Parts: sequence; C-alpha cells; structure tokens
Amino acid sequence: MQIIHSITQWQTLFHNLYLQQKSVGLVATMGALHLGHISLVEASKEHDDEITAATIFVNPTQFNNPEDLEKYPSTWDADIKMLEEAGVDYLFAPNYEDLYPDNYRYKLTELEFSQDLCGTARPGHFDGVLTVVMKLLQLTKPRRAYFGKKDLQQYQLVRDMAQSFFIDTEIVGCPLIRETSGLAMSSRNKRLSRAQRHSAANVYATIKQAVDIEQMHEQLVGHGFTVDYLKEIDGRIFVAVFLGEVRLIDNVPWALQANTKE
Ligand code: AMP
Repeated sequence: MQIIHSITQWQTLFHNLYLQQKSVGLVATMGALHLGHISLVEASKEHDDEITAATIFVNPTQFNNPEDLEKYPSTWDADIKMLEEAGVDYLFAPNYEDLYPDNYRYKLTELEFSQDLCGTARPGHFDGVLTVVMKLLQLTKPRRAYFGKKDLQQYQLVRDMAQSFFIDTEIVGCPLIRETSGLAMSSRNKRLSRAQRHSAANVYATIKQAVDIEQMHEQLVGHGFTVDYLKEIDGRIFVAVFLGEVRLIDNVPWALQANTKE
C-alpha cells in the first residue's frame, strides 16, 4: 500500500487512473479503524474495483465541539496494518492546509434533512461532512465510494449530494457492523472504559425490545445514558446518547421483533 500525503500527487495519480478507465473504489475515514471500516474495503473488493483507495483525515470542519476533536482517537500504525491486510492499494492522508486552501470559506450546505437528528445536535456538522466528501470525490474521481449505514443520515445526505451535483460516482451504502454484544462499532468506542463498553451494548438491546419511544427513553436513562435525540423516521429508530463524555449513535429498524431487515 502506498501512502500519499500530497494533494497534487494524489490528484495526478487518480486523474491518470481515471483516464485509463480503472474502476476505483474509495473508502473515506477519520482513522482509528475497526472492522466496520474494513467492511467498506471488503465491499470494494466484492464489487471488483480494480483499485481500492482509502483516506484518513480527521476533518476539523465537521466537529462542532473542539474537545471532541482533540480527544478523537488516533491509531495510525494499527490503521496502516489493517488497511494493508485488507488489501487497500493507496492511502491518502492530507493535512488541513492543503485540503482547505480556502480555510473553509466555501462550504456545502443541505437545508432540510441535514438540519435534523445529528444536524440539530451538532450544528454545522453536515456542512463539514459534505464539504470534505466533495473534496475527496473531486480529487479521486472514484467509480464507487463506500459509506456505512451506521451513519445512515450521513450516507443518505452524501448519496443525494452526489446526485444533485451530477457527481459520476456511485455512492454505495454498506451494512452497519456491530460487536457481538450488539454495540455499533465506532472509533469513539475506543474512548470508553471496559465497564462503559459493557453498558454501551444497552443502546441496541433497549431499542430492540422496547414497545414505544417513551419506554426506550426511560430505559436508556435507566441504563445511565443521557439521550441526545431519539426519533423514529420511516420505520427506523435513530438515536444518539452520551455515556459520560462519549457520544454514541445508532439506528435500528422499528419492530425488530417482526424480523425487519437491518
Ligand atoms: P468515520 O471514520 O467514523 O468517519 O467512518 C468512516 C466510514 O466508515 C463511514 O462511511 C462510516 O459510516 C463507516 N463506518 C463507521 N463505523 C461503521 C460500522 N460500525 N459499520 C459500518 N460502517 C461503519
């Protein structure tokens, strides 16, 4: 796996691959990788992409809370190993000054769905996400880009943005990967203590078996979570909770009891 930090080098390389009509799959991440990220690399392999590219960039513009950014986990050496073992061909790790030559004077904003859920709780979050994804798509011109449905709202916003701006990349949504405990895998889980990690599994367990939103809310509070939002949209429960300082999100089909597909 070749690691590239320079924007020009990355752009030139992928421009040439684009001209050669190579099918490139892109997996954008903020590092601190786990099997959820690796499942996106595997999806690229399953789609027979000739080249799989990954990015690691902790994007400051999507953090509304400076402390969350500062404490975002970083596991560079382990990340490289995981990506290499998963068969990633190229890794892009740019710095802020190069990726934001305008220092974020220009940004992309969606005015409806991005204002709900994580957008209400984290003002400006999706402006940062959509802007950085657009930059990475422009620099890489992949045939496909893979996004996890763990961040379902993000996936839907990115997919619709690509459509709105006639971006020639298929945005592929990939299944949410969970620990055996049911906890949705997340880089932020690395900030949980052992005991907290154990409790965190109660998010999924609670939502799966509660009969209505009120009961879910009550039980989540009972398990020691501070509920940031808990909302049903189109037959799916979207949830964000704090466990101590760590914010966890999840989404679960409503009435899993009826074996609704995840
Ligand atoms: P992040 O590094 O948190 O920005 O995530 C990078 C990509 O990995 C995003 O498309 C996420 O939705 C995806 N991802 C993160 N966690 C999971 C998970 N548990 N299952 C599936 N995809 C995930």
